Amino acid sequence: MLLRMSTLFLRTLRDDPADAEVPSHRLLARGGYIRRAAPGGFTWLPLGFRVFRNVERIVREEMDAMGAQEVHFPALLPREPYEATNRWTEYGPNLFRLKDRRGNDFLLGPTHEEMFTLLVKDLYGSYKDLPLSLYQIQTKYRDEARPRAGLFRGREFTMKDSYSFDVDDAGLDRSYAAHRAAYIKIFDRLGLDYVIVSAMSGAMGGSKSEEFLHPTPIGEDTFVRSPGGYAANVEAVSTVVPEAIPFDGLPEAHVEDTPDTPTIETLVAVARELFPDAGYTAASTLKNVVVTLVHPDGTREPLVVGLPGDRDVDAKRLEAQVSPAEVEPFTDFAGNPALVKGYIGPQVLGSQSESKIRYLVDPRIVPGSRWVTGANEPGRHVFDLVAGRDFTWDGVIEAAELLAGDPAPDGSGPLELARGVEMGHIFQLGRKYAEALDLKVLDENGKLVTVTMGSYGVGVSRAVAAIAESTHDELGLVWPREVAPADVHVVATGKDAAVFEAAEALANELVAAGLTVLYDDRPKVSPGVKFKDAELLGMPTIVTVGRGLAQGVIEVRDRRTGEREEVPVAEVGARVL
Ligand code: ATP
Ligand code: MG
Ligand code: MG
Ligand code: MG
Repeated sequence: MLLRMSTLFLRTLRDDPADAEVPSHRLLARGGYIRRAAPGGFTWLPLGFRVFRNVERIVREEMDAMGAQEVHFPALLPREPYEATNRWTEYGPNLFRLKDRRGNDFLLGPTHEEMFTLLVKDLYGSYKDLPLSLYQIQTKYRDEARPRAGLFRGREFTMKDSYSFDVDDAGLDRSYAAHRAAYIKIFDRLGLDYVIVSAMSGAMGGSKSEEFLHPTPIGEDTFVRSPGGYAANVEAVSTVVPEAIPFDGLPEAHVEDTPDTPTIETLVAVARELFPDAGYTAASTLKNVVVTLVHPDGTREPLVVGLPGDRDVDAKRLEAQVSPAEVEPFTDFAGNPALVKGYIGPQVLGSQSESKIRYLVDPRIVPGSRWVTGANEPGRHVFDLVAGRDFTWDGVIEAAELLAGDPAPDGSGPLELARGVEMGHIFQLGRKYAEALDLKVLDENGKLVTVTMGSYGVGVSRAVAAIAESTHDELGLVWPREVAPADVHVVATGKDAAVFEAAEALANELVAAGLTVLYDDRPKVSPGVKFKDAELLGMPTIVTVGRGLAQGVIEVRDRRTGEREEVPVAEVGARVL
């Protein structure tokens, strides 16, 4: 494939766009890879779209290789399936909701658990049909509170999402492991550094969840790691590391909730009145709240609290969601009951939740544990009951800093804090969606059993930004060859017709050998501008045909290392392949 700069739909920019906060965004915009089209929405220009498709191809190849099958859903989805799982409401303000001309409710899919569950229910009915893994690479919509950093956090973005269907827990474990292995291959091939962190603490009904975080100071996730290889997100850890802090009585809770949500204060008051001796733990999403009571003898009881107005929670349904397995105490790493997590809604139903839960550690279960409640979302209110401090999003990190230096739960240490951006997320959903949407198959004995599921996501457009961010240098972008829009950038300099002929011949030779060549054939552009553009655009190899041609040599430059070499004309082809 030959891309001629003289006709390529490309304008490189000298200046940084005003709205670009991070280097990758600046360079992708200046290099003519993307243009902003809407708040949190970007247009892929020819070079950008080539990178995007390379990333997509790697993801697709690895998903196909692990045996997942590709399908494609609409993004415009009816309300009903999301109503059945309660996510129509519980997804909160991140969900784009709209109406058709008849007044029917629709949404733009933020993630597709419901649709995949129903699709499988539609076509499959026997244990013999399973295991099954399906995936799509698709545009997702989320009305993010703070779209930022270009492709890193869009309101419209591309995700590879897959879903596994198994008849039993052992099958789910296998599907999860297969996805985990495929994700390792994907991120290795993309050349992205990553840490696999556990995304949840304790036993949540046997479910398991891990995130692939790409360590970077511009990331919005905070995680802890130890030299021994232990890594977990802060939410998982800050709830389970005990600390010697005296505790007498339940402190007064204070949380700013959205106006139509009962505050934890209210819930605590209710809980105290009803069960004066019980500890409690509470969790709320934007729309719903659950309090789980913990009696002194260790028994637990979910107390479901509804909401006013048309947002009334169907208490029965919530109770059903909080099945006994899920109100099992979280254990500390020694296996002692550490805390109980009351939780609800999106967190129960899936990985793709926007409304992160708040949680409380109960020091009466683990003496000395601290009380922390947090919402892992920018701008959300957070407070630490031990310090009595109040803070917003950055405060999550503050709370977490209390942990830095502690030993890791596996004994290695000390823990250190780092920032990262979530590139992928794998999640054992269990039977929540299958139960809510009644996906059952006949087992070997002819008995109907509920299917168990996993869901797995990779941010495809986000990966483009992360690669750009982690590989760029002070001159511009530096693409790894596997995702670069072209393998080679051939630059013809000067006015000499012989130079252009030789450059053209070389470009054609490389194309014939199967490479993609970006050829700067612009006749009236100065060498200085051409070099600057080549550096900014970031093809892995830059070949300059110019003055040296008279001596029979062409310059071959490695964009990453900066190494230059004068290579005899006849040898350039072989050198570049
Ligand atoms: P984050 O914690 O960054 O908000 P998430 O946990 O909400 O991400 P998931 O629901 O787990 O994301 O979706 C799977 C993947 O989709 C994420 O790991 C991430 O790579 C990508 N992703 C999520 N939200 C966005 C977004 N707004 N823009 C681009 N990519 C995104
Ligand atoms: Mg999110
Ligand atoms: Mg996340
Ligand atoms: Mg996630």
